[in-house]
Amino acid sequence: MKKFITMLLSLLGMQSACSQQAFISVNADEFESLIANNDVQLLDVRTAEEFADGHLAGAFNIDIKQGDFDKMATAWLSKQRPVAVYCRSGRRSADAAKRLTAMGYEVTNLSGGIMDWQKNNKPTTTDPAEADRFVTPGGKTVTFYALMHGSVRIDFDGYEIIVDPVARLGNRSVDFSAMPAPHMVIVTHEHRDHFDPATLTQLLSDDATQFITNARCATEFGRGRVMANGDTLTLPNGIKIDAVPAYNTTPEHTQFHPKGRDNGFVLNLDGLRVYIAGDTEDIPEMAALTDIDIAFLPCNQPYTMTAEQLVNAARMVKAKHIFPYHYGTTDVTGIAAQLPDTDVRIRHYE
Ligand code: ZN
Ligand code: ZN
Repeated sequence: MKKFITMLLSLLGMQSACSQQAFISVNADEFESLIANNDVQLLDVRTAEEFADGHLAGAFNIDIKQGDFDKMATAWLSKQRPVAVYCRSGRRSADAAKRLTAMGYEVTNLSGGIMDWQKNNKPTTTDPAEADRFVTPGGKTVTFYALMHGSVRIDFDGYEIIVDPVARLGNRSVDFSAMPAPHMVIVTHEHRDHFDPATLTQLLSDDATQFITNARCATEFGRGRVMANGDTLTLPNGIKIDAVPAYNTTPEHTQFHPKGRDNGFVLNLDGLRVYIAGDTEDIPEMAALTDIDIAFLPCNQPYTMTAEQLVNAARMVKAKHIFPYHYGTTDVTGIAAQLPDTDVRIRHYE
């Protein structure tokens, strides 16, 4: 009897999967207009090699053939926002769409894959940075590109900001020459995973480029607008910057980031408030930050926070969107489950 029921259930399951797909498949034109919506999470389920050869701008890459697909998808993708998925021809993405739908996601599949996309003369890129777009209260677009570790690129309606630009870390590298020249560079502190003098020389070759940093970096680099904790700066274009504390509190770790030396920054971009925490633990000053929309919070002990501390920090900051960053080998995949009311976005900020 039990065997019969199991068989019946599997037959029914198969039938429903064949007859009524719970996800939608669309053509390249429909897919293009869908992903123009800032809320849509664009997912490429091909291999890392295929992704590197060319992909849709702003896509995340999670290889469906890797065993940890479900785990990665859960960490990477919010169930609150729709997912648009593609692969080469539409086969793997249909499989991914089925799995994601079963996991509770709202999914749209590009039926002909990137092959059909390219056949329709639609653009692809080899830029590996994942992009997250937001809209300011004034209607301007702010796009965040995950470069690596502590390096963040922010395109504020064409005004380019790079935070802690570092070209090489371990076996990872970032090609800054492939990006638009920045209008402003911000460096939180002098550790070499944040302060890379050779890259700064390249990015600050134009004197008109703003360089905002702490006293130590300005001295070592020989240039820079110094901001200390508590300082506020308003640029002619209306961008407002607050330098906020960033330091260690664990007794045996305070030598890494002593209180008062380094900065975190709060950027006010046309009313969109972005907190870049820098290297810090979950310090009480975080609770005093107000109206933060987006927060970048570091996650690697002994230098910054454990995942538990990050969750505590997120509860203090109360940002709508959290990017765990600077996380190295720390497992950040469980953070979203502990912050059910927050949009947690894991990107390649290892
Ligand atoms: Zn540091
Ligand atoms: Zn660091």
